[in-house]
Amino acid sequence: MKTTSLALLGALLASSSLANTLVTNANGIEVDRSGHVEHFTGLLIGADGKVVRIIHGAEPRPKASETLDMRGRTLLPGFIDAHGHVIELGRHALQLDLVGTSSLGELQQRLRDYAAAHPNDTWILGAGWNQELWPDRKFPTAADLDSAVADRPVVLTRVDGHALVANSAAMKAAGVTAQTPTPPGGRIENGLFVDNAKDLVDRAIPVPSPAELDQAFAKAQDILLGFGVTGVGSMSTGLGDWEAMKRAGEAGRLEVRFMVYADELNLLNAEPRPTPWLYGDRLRMVGIKFYADGALGSRGAWLKKPYADMPDSHGLQFHSDAELRSLTDTAASHGFQIAIHAIGDAANAQVISTYEWLNGKYGADRRWRIEHAQIVDCADLPRIGRAHIIASMQPTHQTSDRLMAEKRLDPERLKCSYAWQSMLRSGAKLAFGTDFPVESPNPFPGLSAAISRQDINGQPPGGWYPAERVTLGEALHAYTRGAAYAGFAEDRIGALDPGQWADFVVVDRDPTGVNPQELARTQVLETWIAGRKVWSPKPSAPAAAPERGK
Ligand SMILES: [Zn+2]
Repeated sequence: MKTTSLALLGALLASSSLANTLVTNANGIEVDRSGHVEHFTGLLIGADGKVVRIIHGAEPRPKASETLDMRGRTLLPGFIDAHGHVIELGRHALQLDLVGTSSLGELQQRLRDYAAAHPNDTWILGAGWNQELWPDRKFPTAADLDSAVADRPVVLTRVDGHALVANSAAMKAAGVTAQTPTPPGGRIENGLFVDNAKDLVDRAIPVPSPAELDQAFAKAQDILLGFGVTGVGSMSTGLGDWEAMKRAGEAGRLEVRFMVYADELNLLNAEPRPTPWLYGDRLRMVGIKFYADGALGSRGAWLKKPYADMPDSHGLQFHSDAELRSLTDTAASHGFQIAIHAIGDAANAQVISTYEWLNGKYGADRRWRIEHAQIVDCADLPRIGRAHIIASMQPTHQTSDRLMAEKRLDPERLKCSYAWQSMLRSGAKLAFGTDFPVESPNPFPGLSAAISRQDINGQPPGGWYPAERVTLGEALHAYTRGAAYAGFAEDRIGALDPGQWADFVVVDRDPTGVNPQELARTQVLETWIAGRKVWSPKPSAPAAAPERGK
């Protein structure tokens, strides 16, 4: 018995040393703990898929059974998107795609075409429209949809997820009439349902089956890998979504590592609770996400002073101070990390106060997160660093929102908006992401925006409030180490340090050697997780998954 197990052990040791892989001849780039860019030429990866050591310059190469010659190609740590919506990404990709529509007429035409191509769908669901890209910038109405499709319910969600427009058949199915009262924190106008009013329609939509969720999850994971995203803070994860992720784990289909934040509704059901890492560090329930307000585009962001372009409105406050304290206190007592969506300066101030109060009760080591932290009163900025709050921000929101934000706000309030550099200077920990599918999960336009305050076309010249630029090293840090820290995962992902998972990407250009517009157009050639290649372009396909620009 004893000899057998010793023999087995010996065989295991032999096979593991055999399976060491040396990645060599790489143009490796990563950042250190303080956000400085570092170069390396190779990696030794153990049989367990973890980094054994990183090799700099012409250091002697360690022995390994397998050698992988990168032929000088550029290698980066896998990207971690600190804030995305996984199942929505997959569902949107499988539904009517309205991203990039340039007019109401184009939306109507895409809707007609989709309805004709899907005669058996009982509901037509779509997403991605943005009236800010249309000539008249008017929100679509129920009548606009009725004139395209009237024979079955149609529900089309705005690109930011904070508003939807329903046709008459959908409102009828949902039992919404002119007499339906508008819920607090919501707005209804001509078939448009904003923030808390959305649920009046959403609850009538048939819930997706487990098979549909599995399909959406698989689609989402494939899109993420195509953009070099190897880790995700999975926000507002519903119970059904969580079950779909676990099914993928059980079946060995989980590749990307998901740090999951439950939808706040799950708290009421008392399930699920935070978990340890599961399925080889692929899945973990870590936190819970609340909302303090809505979004700027639909004027749901809660502002201290009224909107510049709607003087009778401060936006939408979702919770009283007492309510938010009580919700977050309950969640924290169950061991959840807290993440709160806050866009407007009033919402951010409320969330900071809530965290200051929680610090008094739980200590400051719980890594409270503000999601978006877009518009912050300059006077509140120093409080974020002092309270050890993580600012989870999305650089491409700045480039997408710029013209809209200039209308909603005045220059005084824009000074501390999308203020990445000021956040860092306040001492806040910065984590970057995209809020996909609100934006494409492609991290490269985000890196580009972060260092230039310009969009992919170089607008505006000189950058928008350019003092808020960060360095490439700081941007890469926020997208790797910072995003891992934001999810309590810096002990295993976010860098290629010894002992960390060998999650990395091979790309077609060196980010340190190109201008911001070229950086934004970087293509991923290979995505590796745990030392194993899990994605490369399909032979007939273009070099990356299709861009979901907006
Ligand atoms: Zn989000």
